[in-house]
Amino acid sequence: MLKDIKSNPKKLVADWQSLMRTFIRPEDDAARSTLLKYMEQILFGLHEFLRTKVGFTEEQPLKELGYRFTDTCLNENPEKKLADVITDLIEDIAPYAVNVASPYFVGHMTSAIPFFMVHLKTIVAALNQNVVKLETSKVVSVVEKQLQAKIHRLIFQKSEDFYREHVQNAETTLGTFIEDGTLANVTALWVARNKLLSPKPGFGGVEAEGIHAAYKAYDIDRLIVIVSALHHYSIKKACGVLGIGNENVIAVDMDDNNRIDMEALEKVISQIRENNRTGILAVIGIAGATETGTVDPLKQMAMVCSRYRVHFHVDAAWGGPTLMSAKYRHILDGIELADSVTIDGHKQFYMPMTCGMVYFRDPTHMDSVRYHSNYVIRPGSADLGIKSLAGSREAVSLVLDSALKIMGTQGYALLIEHGIETAHEFADEIRSRKLFQLVTPPELNILTYRICPEPMAEKLVRTKVEERYEINERLNHINMSVQRMQREAGKSFVSRTTLTKGRRNGEKIIVLRSVIMNPMTTIEILRQILDEQEDIFFSSFRSLDI
Ligand SMILES: *Cc1c(COP(=O)(O)O)cnc(C)c1O
Repeated sequence: MLKDIKSNPKKLVADWQSLMRTFIRPEDDAARSTLLKYMEQILFGLHEFLRTKVGFTEEQPLKELGYRFTDTCLNENPEKKLADVITDLIEDIAPYAVNVASPYFVGHMTSAIPFFMVHLKTIVAALNQNVVKLETSKVVSVVEKQLQAKIHRLIFQKSEDFYREHVQNAETTLGTFIEDGTLANVTALWVARNKLLSPKPGFGGVEAEGIHAAYKAYDIDRLIVIVSALHHYSIKKACGVLGIGNENVIAVDMDDNNRIDMEALEKVISQIRENNRTGILAVIGIAGATETGTVDPLKQMAMVCSRYRVHFHVDAAWGGPTLMSAKYRHILDGIELADSVTIDGHKQFYMPMTCGMVYFRDPTHMDSVRYHSNYVIRPGSADLGIKSLAGSREAVSLVLDSALKIMGTQGYALLIEHGIETAHEFADEIRSRKLFQLVTPPELNILTYRICPEPMAEKLVRTKVEERYEINERLNHINMSVQRMQREAGKSFVSRTTLTKGRRNGEKIIVLRSVIMNPMTTIEILRQILDEQEDIFFSSFRSLDI
């Protein structure tokens, strides 16, 4: 329970001297050991929570929690000392947060992180560098450029000479760190937009004159972005923000393996090209779809894009780190031909929130989003803020750079291979159980399945469209309920999503989705999760006529 602060007898007041003390590193032994004790409390107190508590349950309903947090006045006087605040966070907040580090939490792309990440993140906070400009970051900016070259090389594999030329080149930009994958995708499409609608005689460029003037100057009425129907919703957001309009995201059908249908893609492109009043801003390949983990045929897409001279963006927010695995990097073949690539650090680089990245094959592409100001990021400087959607930002590159030193790409490869291989084992287990149906087999480490009792599965094969619809509706209800009840029980967590099965106007089916990235998640744990789902199903739905 939250402690009632009003009953605290000792009233605290804001005074200059104690305020000043909070800015100074304590030199006396007592103060030092107090601060050390606090750090220990954070590391091990919070860790205790991560070991014992479970997921998002109604044990303490969100609504009730909400009632406790309705005070809308800022407190004038200090309420608590640091020690009490830390204790509160550990005892009153952490237990009601979600234990994403549990090996039984296999529903989302947020999972356990190595323990050392807390140390690295603490260093970033302690240094408090601002990477927007050299004057507030100095060496961190060059460390960041070096790391960008390393990740760029992981993706694009250019020559030694190329990286020697660009690694610390103040004029060129291989990529940028940004808050998250969403903003990385926005950045990629921002650059693509400015490249396409660039300045020309009589026109100052879309960045300067806006979309309306740009369409007039280029004699078009509309721009579109082409991507498979499994795209992340950040693509739509990006098109909204950039003035393209999110209805101009054209979702192409998938083939039977949930990859973009190449025939359909070419058809859309050639149709659009016949209408010369519509432009194509970009074609996007997905390397690890959020819902199914599937990877589009990147090489084929790259070839089509090069033939039609269209910007090819790869959204590898999830799958990008697979490139570190010699065993599985071939799944992403063709990514080296992309014009731009998004990767998230807070997903399969196992970093704490948040770290998005976007990389450009051509180190001059980001010139189209160059900004200067008089007091920072002056022309000619090497400030990283010159070509970035963000202004101030933290030195998150120090975390990733250090993590790569600690783990090596080989260490990351082991984690990624564990995820993929455990997902395949899980798929076999699902196939072997009568109650379940594997819906999308894993290509990387995500799979979807659903509860589908044999009699219903058989009926689905035999019956007509209308009846199938009805059966699927019932299955959807079952799967939704079982997922909810399992979450509620608080032992394990898989997520659910809705997929469209079959092409155009296919049936909407609710599936259970599991993401295997926690190295502690074993096939044994996954079997227990299925056992629990069977138990829930048989105790809640057995009486139904199925
Ligand atoms: C997670 C994800 C994103 C968005 O990333 P955020 O970091 O959540 O903004 C975009 N695309 C794909 C494929 C993703 O998996």
